[in-house]
Amino acid sequence: MTSIAAERSLHEQFPRLVPGGGSVDVRELERLRARARRFAEVHVRPRALEIDRRTGEDPSWFDWELVRAGAEQGMLSFLIPKPAGGAGGLATQAAVVMEELCAACPGIALIFGAHALGISPLLLGGPSQWDGVLAELVASERSDKPLLMACAITEPDAGTDVEDPELLARARITSHARRVPGGFRLSGTKRFISNGSVARWITLLMATDPRRPAETWTCFLLDARSEGFAVSRVEHKMGQRACPAAELTFDEVFVPDERVVGREGDGAAATMIVLACSRPPVGAIATGIARGAYERVLGWLEEDRAARGLLGRQHVQLALASMEEEIHLARQLYMDAATELDHTALGGVLSHPSVRALGHVPASIRGRASVRRLLSSDRARDATVALLHRTTSERAVTRSLALSSMAKARGGDVAMRVTGAALELVGLRAGPVRAELEKLWRDAKLTQIYEGTNQLNRLEVYRGLCHRETIGCLPPLHPIHLDTDRRAPTNGDVRAHLDAADTPTHTHTSANGDGGRS
Ligand SMILES: Cc1cc2nc3c(=O)[nH]c(=O)nc-3n(C[C@H](O)[C@H](O)[C@H](O)COP(=O)(O)OP(=O)(O)OC[C@H]3O[C@@H](n4cnc5c(N)ncnc54)[C@H](O)[C@@H]3O)c2cc1C
Repeated sequence: MTSIAAERSLHEQFPRLVPGGGSVDVRELERLRARARRFAEVHVRPRALEIDRRTGEDPSWFDWELVRAGAEQGMLSFLIPKPAGGAGGLATQAAVVMEELCAACPGIALIFGAHALGISPLLLGGPSQWDGVLAELVASERSDKPLLMACAITEPDAGTDVEDPELLARARITSHARRVPGGFRLSGTKRFISNGSVARWITLLMATDPRRPAETWTCFLLDARSEGFAVSRVEHKMGQRACPAAELTFDEVFVPDERVVGREGDGAAATMIVLACSRPPVGAIATGIARGAYERVLGWLEEDRAARGLLGRQHVQLALASMEEEIHLARQLYMDAATELDHTALGGVLSHPSVRALGHVPASIRGRASVRRLLSSDRARDATVALLHRTTSERAVTRSLALSSMAKARGGDVAMRVTGAALELVGLRAGPVRAELEKLWRDAKLTQIYEGTNQLNRLEVYRGLCHRETIGCLPPLHPIHLDTDRRAPTNGDVRAHLDAADTPTHTHTSANGDGGRS
């Protein structure tokens, strides 16, 4: 017996995915899934228990050999746009990879998932990001020294609060990015950062004015070799141990202007989009964990002498049927959220003709200093935001965020229930499979916590689907000209711009009184 996931093609399971279709081509997706499955079977599952034990003893221990093996299967570049040399995937591709890897080992999978999370904000930076770090990541994947990324949002006194624009306004932010000539000086602490101790590049969010974090939240790209940056602690974890969670400290770390991702002050909106994109893959992580537990218990029931006769009992059959049912629903939820996001909310930006045309310009030309200056100019950053507004809407992103949150929260609960039920079934009778199930149960707990706790995610479901509220998901449409003292836009400015963007006319006057055209 096998699970339904192994028997049906992706197109059979999700008819919305079609060959050559939109931002997700199902044939490419099948190939990616096959590569992820091969990597999981050959390299991940055989090492899962050993690495869990070693990292339980020493949380800083890290297996670069596995990263190299994953790199050979393209596990570090599936999210990187094609013009930068990657596979051009989005939420759907990330989700499919995560389910496969997590059915083998969620801790090892998280190394690749946290790397993808680190890349995500750069995708919002548009073509200006292609020929910098993204191209470097692709080149490193093809070498024997692959580079990893991380994404740092959480602070010691602000976890849930920094994942929602309304809560962010009242959050106890202690980090600060201070403007200096040519860039910013970053100070403070980020906590629980997956891959934080092994990443070469880190996308991180900090306020340029900690008294008004929501209005000044800004995304930076940090070189982990920068002076003043340090890994102050690596946590002892309960589950998903193979991926280190680190505390990072910043002591006046300099980040130049060109490493501001997107526009200064757009970080809260960018965080919402990044989380909308990353929560379906977290739903997939949870689905993979549940599937891993189900497949192990099924294998044990069929093959282990200690389990002889159990498959004939009705209570065992009912338990297995309800596991398959829950896993199937969790998969449908994450796939619905991911495809919605890629087809109707964000896929439009990356598949927009102007972006595709730029993708055909050879990297050697895009890499010229004058072209790079142009691509990273304020005007180009504004154009990227304008494109975002043209190809999607507040409503579409809010709805996608709600679906993503639903997939994430339900997936996490399913992972806990299925791993728990599998452990109950094997009881004390099982040999090695019991250790694997116990590990998966520990691994599952994290899916209810990271990427926003399940409580926060259910509040997003309420806001986006029950109450039909729209939240500040998109950065303001027009450049908000700052005063000479570089006053950051206030919530009022942002709201006025969003309201203006919702009206059918394309000519607006900004809240600051200066005119602008879209
Ligand atoms: C192993 C691990 C890896 C992680 N990796 C990363 C990473 O790579 N990058 C990163 O930036 N962060 C990461 N995180 C941080 C993670 O996203 C946060 O832990 C999570 O957002 C919860 O924040 P918190 O721990 O501060 O809990 P708190 O925010 O203090 O929440 C505590 C409890 O209160 C509830 N709660 C809080 N506010 C509300 C509210 N308004 N309404 C209802 N309930 C509420 C929560 O649901 C929770 O049950 C990681 C965390 C862990 C444990």
